[in-house]
Amino acid sequence: MYDLIVIGRGLSSLLFLKQYLDTHSDLKVLIIEKNKKIESRYISSWQGPGLLDLKKEYGIHAYKAYKKISISDKTISIKKNLLPYSYNTYDYKHVIETIFSSLKDRVEIIYDQVISIKEMYNEVNVKTKKHNFQSQYLISSTSIGQQSVNNKKMLYQYFVGTEIQIKENHKHDTCQLMHFLQSNNEVLFNYNLPFDQKSILIETTAFGKKVHFENLDKIHKKSLAVFNIAKIIKREKGIIPMSVNHKFHRTARIINIGIDGGFARPSSGYMLLRAAQWSKINKNINLKDLVFKEKKLINFLDKIFLKACYYYPGLANSIFIKLFNSNDIASVIRFLADIPKLYDIVKILINTPKKIMINALIK
Ligand SMILES: Cc1cc2nc3c(=O)[nH]c(=O)nc-3n(C[C@H](O)[C@H](O)[C@H](O)COP(=O)(O)OP(=O)(O)OC[C@H]3O[C@@H](n4cnc5c(N)ncnc54)[C@H](O)[C@@H]3O)c2cc1C
Repeated sequence: MYDLIVIGRGLSSLLFLKQYLDTHSDLKVLIIEKNKKIESRYISSWQGPGLLDLKKEYGIHAYKAYKKISISDKTISIKKNLLPYSYNTYDYKHVIETIFSSLKDRVEIIYDQVISIKEMYNEVNVKTKKHNFQSQYLISSTSIGQQSVNNKKMLYQYFVGTEIQIKENHKHDTCQLMHFLQSNNEVLFNYNLPFDQKSILIETTAFGKKVHFENLDKIHKKSLAVFNIAKIIKREKGIIPMSVNHKFHRTARIINIGIDGGFARPSSGYMLLRAAQWSKINKNINLKDLVFKEKKLINFLDKIFLKACYYYPGLANSIFIKLFNSNDIASVIRFLADIPKLYDIVKILINTPKKIMINALIK
C-alpha cells in the first residue's frame, strides 16, 4: 500500500512532487508512467521579477531566453523589448529528466499503462495492464476516470510545429509570438522560435471551434515553404482545450492535475508557470485539502477574450496587436503570467478594443 500514487511522469506531476516531497519526505510514492521514452518537444514560459524562478526552484535551464518578441499581421509589425522580463523556451525532455533525477531516490516508478481507477472508502485501487496497486491518495495528470468537459461554445488550441535547419543564417534574438494569417472562421497564426542562426521552430496554431489538422497541415506547409530548409529536425503537434469550463476537480482521494486537471490558462493554454507556482504554494498542504483555486477576475477576462475569439475570430488579431502595442509591456506579461496587479488589469482593459470586447461580453 502506497501513501500516494501519481499517474504520469509528466510536467505537472514532477513539478508537484519536487515541491511536495521537500516537505513530506516520509511519503511512500509510486509513479506509474506508460511511456519510458520522454517526448521531444519545447515548452515556454514568461520569466522575470515577481514570477517563480524556474531555474532556482527546479534547476531547469532555458534552452533559449528571448528578450524581444514580435507580434504582427500583414499590415502591422510590433517589436517589444521585454526587459526585465524574458520569454523562455525549455526542452521538455531536459525538464523531465532534470526534475526526475532529483527525485529518483525518493519515489518508485514503474512503466505500465493505467487502465482504470476505483475509489473506495479508505483507499484507491489502480489497475494497470500488468498489476493492481493500492494507495491512500491518487494524483492523476491524465483524463482517466474524469467526465468529459461541457464543450458547448468551446475553443481548441491546436498546432503543428516543425523544427528546421535552414541554409542561410537567420537572426535569432526575437521570438515571433504571433504572426496572424488570414482566416475568417478561426484565429490563425504562426509562432516562430529561432533557436540559433540555423535552427528555428515554426509552429502554426489555430484557435478553432473544431480541430481540422488536415487544413492546418496545409497552411503549415506553406509557412515552411518560405524558408530554405536544409534539414527537418523534428515535428510536434498538440491540442489544448481553451475553456473556462475546464475546471479543477477532485474527490476525497483522487486529485486531478495538469492539462487534464484544468490547470491551463483558458485564454492561452499555457500551464508550465501555473503548475510550478501552484506546486510551490501548496507544498505544506495536506493531500486531503489540496485544491487548485482559479483566479476569478482572470477567468472573467479570459472568458470575454475567448468569446471574442469564438464570435469574431477574424478580428482577434486586433485584440492582441492593440494589447501588445501598449506602452507598458510589463503589465501585459504580468497579466499573461497570472500575477497582475490591479493597475495591470486597468491597463489591460484600456488597451483592448472596447467594441469587440463589449460585444463579446453581451453575447
Ligand atoms: C507540443 C506542445 C507544446 C506545448 N507548449 C506549451 C508551452 O509553450 N507553454 C506551456 O505552458 N504549455 C505548453 N503546452 C501545454 C502543457 O503545458 C504541456 O502539455 C504539459 O506537458 C502538460 O503537463 P501535464 O502534466 O498535464 O501532461 P504531460 O506532461 O503530458 O504528462 C502526462 C503524463 O502522463 C502519462 N500518461 C498518460 N496516460 C497514462 C496512463 N493511462 N497510464 C500511465 N501514464 C499515462 C503520459 O505518458 C505523460 O508522461 C504544450 C503542449 C504540447 C503538446
